[in-house]
Amino acid sequence: MATEQSYIMIKPDGVQRGLVGEIIKRFEQRGYTLKGLKLINVDRALAEKHYEDLSARPFFGALVEYICSGPVCAMVWEGKNIVAAGRTMIGATNPQASAPGTIRGDYSIEVGRNIIHGSDSVESATREIGLWFPEGITSWTPVAKPWIYE
Ligand code: UDP
Ligand code: MG
Repeated sequence: MATEQSYIMIKPDGVQRGLVGEIIKRFEQRGYTLKGLKLINVDRALAEKHYEDLSARPFFGALVEYICSGPVCAMVWEGKNIVAAGRTMIGATNPQASAPGTIRGDYSIEVGRNIIHGSDSVESATREIGLWFPEGITSWTPVAKPWIYE
């Protein structure tokens, strides 16, 4: 399993509910590295582009409205197997199916208010990081790395 990057986004409900610190803490304490971070109001074109694969779904309009309804916290996290591991930490798409201990399982109830996004594949992550961070991300190596990886 290679070092990967994932696009992780705290959605407007997560920001409004004051969950930014709690969510960042989980990724940080697990040992992943924060490589990009910004709080932004999302315009319709960006939300539609991000979710373009879902444009034919009946919930697409509501989903775009939701993502544009307040600031999101856009992040890039890096680490071994972060894409799949990040999805496991986040939990199932529908919080009713998310296990306790996952982010959605601990902090959300409905699929349309599930507080966080995480890339579903390495290919999606590359596309999403390019879309949300066209200015690029921050290059650095944490000094704790040898204490996290063999
Ligand atoms: N969504 C929804 N209703 C559904 C399925 C999805 O409102 O029936 C929303 C939900 O916010 C979800 C997002 O659309 O997180 C993207 O859907 P996807 O299937 O990609 O789920 P995810 O990758 O976020 O788990
Ligand atoms: Mg998805």
